[in-house]
Amino acid sequence: MSAHEPAAQSALPAGRYAPSPSGDLHVGNLRTAVLAWLFARTSGRRFLLRMENLDRTAVGSDQRQIDDLHALGIDWEPPVVYQTDRLDRYRALIDDLTRRGRTFECFCTRREILEAPSAPHSPPGAYPGTCRHLTAEERESKRAAGRPPAIRIVSDVDEFSVVDVLHGEYTGAVDDFVIQRGDGTPAYNLAVVIDDAEQGIDQVVRGDDLLPSAPRQSYLTTLLGHTPPVYAHVPMVLNDKQIRLSKRDGAVTLADLAARGVDTATVLDHIAASLRLAEPGEHVTLADLAQRFDPTKLPTQPWILTDDEWI
Ligand code: GLU
Repeated sequence: MSAHEPAAQSALPAGRYAPSPSGDLHVGNLRTAVLAWLFARTSGRRFLLRMENLDRTAVGSDQRQIDDLHALGIDWEPPVVYQTDRLDRYRALIDDLTRRGRTFECFCTRREILEAPSAPHSPPGAYPGTCRHLTAEERESKRAAGRPPAIRIVSDVDEFSVVDVLHGEYTGAVDDFVIQRGDGTPAYNLAVVIDDAEQGIDQVVRGDDLLPSAPRQSYLTTLLGHTPPVYAHVPMVLNDKQIRLSKRDGAVTLADLAARGVDTATVLDHIAASLRLAEPGEHVTLADLAQRFDPTKLPTQPWILTDDEWI
């Protein structure tokens, strides 16, 4: 087994943190990672780290993310899985779905999809079904026109329900979503499902911006013959304009904060206080937080992070 292949599924189920190595982790990402670790470790699960590097990568940021997670005290079972080492696996399962008649090639541009009349009651932005029933000749002529097709799943439901520890039963739209992009890259929605299932992950903790993706992913999980995970979509960290925290918001990574004299232990203390797992100013470790963690008492509102936090 190479260092980047997933560990064989062992008896114990797992939780995970699955960042995209597109830059350094900011305080919002770190807070989600702390929560994912707490959810897994306090429920007797293994904890795994996966680099979702199919797109948007910044050279070296995977290692800096690993170092920052370690610095906070987060540990996981090796190896760290890199999605680019799993391309053959994703392609094999796309081929399986195709053999089962569960995929179709789609030649639509984003604009054509937005402009196409949509079915009554379909959610905004849902795929209108344009390419689902192309004849072989129509497909051939579209291919000849030179546009490489994306591959979409043939969905036989309009919506699907998931179970979320913080949001309860959540039902969301499922359309014929893309599982392989026009450039041949497996889509995030496919890779995440295959990896979670094959790594034995039955608990997915991540930012609540991804809650609307969960029904599609759970549905695909069932199509592949697996049981969907239980989710916990946790509140995000927002800036003072109530917009999701980003690198543009000033000192938001461990490196930025260290340069301003705020050390990693202090960042963890502030994350803990924001989760109401510590008093403001109290020094804590992850082990302390594991003692105190109660998912039913987590704040359900976003954490508004301003520069004053660190003064
Ligand atoms: N890689 C995604 C991100 O960093 C998270 C995907 C997930 O946790 O399912 O936003």
